[in-house]
Amino acid sequence: MSSIVLSVVVPMYNEEAVIPALVERLRPALDGLGVSYEVVAVDDGSADRTAQLLFENGRTWPELRLIKLRHNSGHQAALTAGLHRSLGEWVVSIDADLQDPPETIAEMLHTAQEHGLDVVYGVRSDRSTDTFFKRHTAGAYYKLMRRMVGADVPSQAGDFRLLSREVVDVLKVLPERTPVYRLLVPSLGFSSGKVAYAREKRAAGETKYPLRKMVALAWDSAANFSAAPLRIATWLGAIAFAACIALMIFGIVVYSNGTVIPGWTSLFLAVLLLSAVQLICLGLLGEYVARIYKTVQNRPTFHIGFDSAAAEPPAIPQQ
Ligand code: UDP
Ligand code: MG
Repeated sequence: MSSIVLSVVVPMYNEEAVIPALVERLRPALDGLGVSYEVVAVDDGSADRTAQLLFENGRTWPELRLIKLRHNSGHQAALTAGLHRSLGEWVVSIDADLQDPPETIAEMLHTAQEHGLDVVYGVRSDRSTDTFFKRHTAGAYYKLMRRMVGADVPSQAGDFRLLSREVVDVLKVLPERTPVYRLLVPSLGFSSGKVAYAREKRAAGETKYPLRKMVALAWDSAANFSAAPLRIATWLGAIAFAACIALMIFGIVVYSNGTVIPGWTSLFLAVLLLSAVQLICLGLLGEYVARIYKTVQNRPTFHIGFDSAAAEPPAIPQQ
């Protein structure tokens, strides 16, 4: 058993602007806990000086560990890397931009230990600092996900959460290639609690979640937990098939009456409609087949290029 009580996993992508403020706030918050801890900073293939700054800060802050991924693998993959390499009895994941207040970690740890919980979610009680667009898309996302996952997915709980070693060990052996932890963790059914916090403004820099990444996360969430999109395709196909039969019967009746069916347009429309339906179905099937393929390939989700806690004396990471 490791002697580290708490691991704090911080995924970072091009976060050089926020590192000074992060260190300034995170360090006293963790030192004040009075327990042994490590900060597992995961540099998600940043193109800026994130790794260098972390490395330099590690000289004066021995608890700060740097893990550098070789290329940008995404927020969830960076979290996976951090979870796999963390050693603590408890593991907290927190955003680098100080939107999740580090002082809340104390309350999370306390709640977990006092009530014997395995998971404590940080729940955003106040999102007024987020954009209108982000607030509303997030609201719709949580509503939909609660239905899809079927487990009690806490609303407004992002990736600021505390996990026990047991939960982390379970997550580590899951063969998931595109994990979405905010859904995966509740679906495991461990005992859980919540701690409310006000979402702060990003301390520096810009969001690393453009619309493209938000859509990718939403699609991962839906496809990981539900075959509903596949079923929609099946229903569409069934409806189109029924319409096709009806049209055939209609055609036969009209033909037996001796009248020639006028209107080639309708025929063409039917052909086009069916082609479209088939293509949609094929596309959806392809999405799932691609996922099976990815899992079967069993490629690592992340590639660690550097770990400052490795036995070999580390070289200063170069971009
Ligand atoms: N992040 C990451 N890899 C990415 C995108 C984001 O590691 O490809 C990190 C980012 O550095 C931050 C966290 O994920 O620590 C959340 O990102 P951000 O604050 O930009 O998202 P937002 O709060 O705008 O949703
Ligand atoms: Mg943020």
